[in-house]
Amino acid sequence: MNSRCASVSKIIPFSCVDGPGSRLALFLQGCNLRCKNCHNPWTIGCCNYCGECVAQCPHQALSMVNERVMWNESTCQQCDTCLHMCPQQATPMAQTMSVEDVLLHLRKALLFIEGITVSGGEATTQLPFLQALFSAIKADTQLRQLTCLVDSNGLLSETGWQKLLPVCDGAMVDLKAWDRECHLALTGRDNAQIKRSIQLLAKQGKLAELRLLMIPGQVDYLQHCEPLAAFIRQLGDVPVRLNAFHAHGVYGEAKSWPGATPEDVDKLARALRARGVENLILPALYLQA
Ligand code: SF4
Ligand code: SF4
Repeated sequence: MNSRCASVSKIIPFSCVDGPGSRLALFLQGCNLRCKNCHNPWTIGCCNYCGECVAQCPHQALSMVNERVMWNESTCQQCDTCLHMCPQQATPMAQTMSVEDVLLHLRKALLFIEGITVSGGEATTQLPFLQALFSAIKADTQLRQLTCLVDSNGLLSETGWQKLLPVCDGAMVDLKAWDRECHLALTGRDNAQIKRSIQLLAKQGKLAELRLLMIPGQVDYLQHCEPLAAFIRQLGDVPVRLNAFHAHGVYGEAKSWPGATPEDVDKLARALRARGVENLILPALYLQA
């Protein structure tokens, strides 16, 4: 039995938006970027058991036991009050799950899914768990047919990828801006390692998807279309998904940013196609806040 554990913010048994086909999606808690446009900002931090959310819960679903916050799922009304007031951008509803716990969920969903996608937060911040989980799936006669994908911000080091890739079928990675300064302003970190990760994954045939998020007035893809397109072309025939920003769920200044329209995304798509980037996936849906 593998007892390696992770802090999990959410598990969705059947998802059709977290990679190809129907997949179990596991969202790990904690991220090493601080994206202004994060749609799940309560998955960024980790609970430090300050207890501030306990008294704020309108349904008495939270309590302090042995200096830890306990969440009572049966009384929780999913009102999200605790998420919005947490000073750590964390959640008291995160659960500790072992590899065995996740395997149990996979067995229940097995007939209806093609694989598992581990997302976040940033999945690779809990690398030992991720490695143990994917290894256990590959070693299990019943589960090894499932593909193991990771949805990542790409900050993982080359050493980290080398540990994960033998048991990982692919990664979907976001490139949130082209220029270092723009990336720093949007996420709090520069993007040198992210570009290296994207190249490494493509070289190893494990870049399942490259993702660009169009945020009008904030991202710099169009200003740097030549080097961006050249970078993508040298990755080979990798699908490039263009996502459209919308302000739903975001905190802070990004709440007032306008959402991307079909015209905004088309403009980027045309600029990339004109420079030889053909394998584009456009949004099926546009939400306006
Ligand atoms: S979830 Fe946030 S507010 Fe609640 S105890 Fe943890 S850190 Fe404090
Ligand atoms: S979402 Fe949070 S605040 Fe709302 S009922 Fe559940 S635990 Fe309480």
